[in-house]
Amino acid sequence: MDIVLFGKPGAGKGTQAPRIAAALGVPTVATGDVLRAAVRAGTPMGLAAKAYMDRGDLVPDDVILGIMKEALAKPDFSAGSLLDGVVRTTPQAEGMTRVLTELGRRIDAVLMFDIDDEELVQRLSGRTVCENCQTPYTGRAAGSTCDNCGGTLMRRKDDEPEAIRNRLGVYQRQTAPVLDWYKQRGTGIVTVDAVGSVDDVTQRALAALGTLGIRANGK
Ligand SMILES: [Zn+2]
Repeated sequence: MDIVLFGKPGAGKGTQAPRIAAALGVPTVATGDVLRAAVRAGTPMGLAAKAYMDRGDLVPDDVILGIMKEALAKPDFSAGSLLDGVVRTTPQAEGMTRVLTELGRRIDAVLMFDIDDEELVQRLSGRTVCENCQTPYTGRAAGSTCDNCGGTLMRRKDDEPEAIRNRLGVYQRQTAPVLDWYKQRGTGIVTVDAVGSVDDVTQRALAALGTLGIRANGK
């Protein structure tokens, strides 16, 4: 059972991934983690990736896909995976489908976290972080005082409204078309309202996957 998590940056995929993974009994797979593990382990594809990273270059898609294949072929991932942020462009979607086909698997579902742009801008621009101890806060203005250490709270550059709109623009241009690509191939797509408490969104996500016949462990 291999599932792609999908949604705008800040929609909450990273928060939901471990919760949904635990409920389904499959591990999460994030590109950065898999890449670092392969480099550390010195696998053939890990060494290929390291050569690019040492030069300060981006690791190309075909090397990333090779690393994904190495990882997904391990026993840890034999029951499936929850792919978080692995598929952001149509070529990456095509590549992952090829990799899974070679392993005798396929994407069983795309779980889409749906959230309005304005809601996202509000949510993300409401985040601040202590410039001293890095404690994150929500709903506290930049310039107020950290409860933890008395430091000053600041907004990360990434969370400035203009930066958020830029990221949403990239999503709209590069990532949103991937959903149509899966739709055309007949992959099951379920959409979940990503606004609400963390627990509520997890429950909605599991219920939505249930409509595709994908059920939590022992239920
Ligand atoms: Zn602090």
